[in-house]
Amino acid sequence: MSDSSGNQSREWNYHPDLPLQDPSIFKWPPSPGFLARWFARNWLTLSERVIMVILAVIAWLTLYPSLETAQSFAFGWIFQTWAVNMALMIVIAGALHWYFYIHKGQGQELKFDRRDQAKGNRLWNFANQVHDNMFWSLGSGVAQLTAFQVVTMWLMANDYVPVMTLTSNPVWFVLALILLPIWSAFHFYWVHRLLHVPFLYKKVHSLHHRNVNIGPWSGFSMHPVEHLFYLSSLCIHWVVISHPVHLIFHVIYLGPGAAMTHTGYEDLLIKDKRRLALGTFYHQLHHRYYECNYGNQEMPCDRWFGTFHNGSEEATATTRARKKKMHA
Ligand SMILES: [Zn+2]
Ligand SMILES: [Zn+2]
Repeated sequence: MSDSSGNQSREWNYHPDLPLQDPSIFKWPPSPGFLARWFARNWLTLSERVIMVILAVIAWLTLYPSLETAQSFAFGWIFQTWAVNMALMIVIAGALHWYFYIHKGQGQELKFDRRDQAKGNRLWNFANQVHDNMFWSLGSGVAQLTAFQVVTMWLMANDYVPVMTLTSNPVWFVLALILLPIWSAFHFYWVHRLLHVPFLYKKVHSLHHRNVNIGPWSGFSMHPVEHLFYLSSLCIHWVVISHPVHLIFHVIYLGPGAAMTHTGYEDLLIKDKRRLALGTFYHQLHHRYYECNYGNQEMPCDRWFGTFHNGSEEATATTRARKKKMHA
């Protein structure tokens, strides 16, 4: 096998060590040391996930309406929910965009693609990639995120779906937080593969894929039909017992969280130290080569179903062949 990282360095401004390794927690046989490190990295440091849980708890206690108010649909609490989601999206995606692309706080360090966000190109609404992405994220995105959340709150408030208190089952409270990203990764893989069926791809998913070079605002920039599919992950709360904090964590994970995973940078550096894991090269490869890496690294669906791109030239060739066959 030829080592292709030399050529890959021409393709990318930065890439991690290639070929990409298998960081999935479903590796067989399970390795306790690996699982412990996975757990520590995600849950015992100030990781993306921990930040989102903290945010979810604060938002639940101070920003979102209470479950009692959600017993019947009324403009006030629905508007409040929408306004909070709007603010979270603007603050999180906006702050990341400001830091990385306006202030250029990290320059090109750990940035996958050399290019800046596109301007003056008619591909985009308003001839501006960022404004176009903001339009879809804040319009359809925040509206549908809110709709799913509002319906779920109403279902919870009326006991139409199983709902728990913190004290009724503290073990499940914690476990559900750990499991939600894994559920969401599983759901995302299948929804995403569906979106790559040529008909849906052309009509719907190509909107997200105009972002070959991604930025924070690209993450949640989707066609309304894609928002609907993607956010249906939240329906898990209609069947599995959960607490409103789980719902809010899930909402933040899918909405503003998408801005974090699409920053275009691998990590946030503070004083030259990697302090926060952001985007993955894994999904960056999906944006460049399309018919690969539909899921994310943790849920090994791509490995199981032969759609994994490990960053090598061989994988690019296989992916291109698959793309040609699919769109023949
Ligand atoms: Zn994406
Ligand atoms: Zn895609």
